[in-house]
Amino acid sequence: MTSIRDALNHAATTLATRHDGAMFEGEILLAHALEKTRTYLHTWPERALNEAQLTTFNRLVERRCNGEPSAYITGEQEFWSLSLAVTPDTLIPRPETELLVELALEHIPSDERYKIADLGTGSGAIALALASERPGSQIIAVDFSADALTVAECNREKHSLNNVTFMQGDWLAPLNELIFDVIVSNPPYVREDDIHLEQDGLPFEPRSALVASDNGLDDIQRIVVDSRARLTDSGWLLIEHGYDQGADVSEIFEQHGYHNITGHRDLSDQPRVVTAQYNAGTK
Ligand code: GLN
Repeated sequence: MTSIRDALNHAATTLATRHDGAMFEGEILLAHALEKTRTYLHTWPERALNEAQLTTFNRLVERRCNGEPSAYITGEQEFWSLSLAVTPDTLIPRPETELLVELALEHIPSDERYKIADLGTGSGAIALALASERPGSQIIAVDFSADALTVAECNREKHSLNNVTFMQGDWLAPLNELIFDVIVSNPPYVREDDIHLEQDGLPFEPRSALVASDNGLDDIQRIVVDSRARLTDSGWLLIEHGYDQGADVSEIFEQHGYHNITGHRDLSDQPRVVTAQYNAGTK
């Protein structure tokens, strides 16, 4: 007989050779296999798994061992306390991106009806987090991938966030004529030759959501340039970037006439987000 505890210990040993937090990942996968919560596993460690449950669980552990991220195996990822559906059509929302949400909220007063844009929304993570915190504001979220937007729309419905609208297109192209108080983006910024692309589950994620040309700065540059015409006077643009791109990104903002340019570090103390204002009047 294999109990929940035995199965978890076995999985943790198997996963430990490849993954940090092997026990936690094992719990996520077992909870998924049993269609229960992690709390259930902790409450009933002695309960026996039947043959079918054990087979299902072992298959999930094997997929994880082959490098597939847990979020794709279970089809969900937690972001800003929202449980979000994710598929290989969407990047898996990262904890460090919550910094972008936190900083954006500082510029969106809760009693105002702001217009906000999220560029490259993927699963909708940033847009939906902002929508949940600022129900009075309107958010338009754009992605080039229609498949990603199907997932994002599913997440919007799941959380009944009616103040988000999704649009398909290339960065700011679908937003002609519209003006925003705040624009946020977590664009692709990994260099084409970055060795990390072969590691940590990244080969399973959509390359178009990860990689940008020009040393990873091409999409950031486009967003900085094109956002100027789409921001209200002194509106804010907030962009996530790679840990070693802080200075380059600040310089791009400076070259294009932004002010109050500030770099922010994430929880791992890595430069991660640049925020700045654009004042059309002082072009
Ligand atoms: N932060 C992601 C990584 O782990 C990259 C996300 C992005 O390109 N926007 O590499």
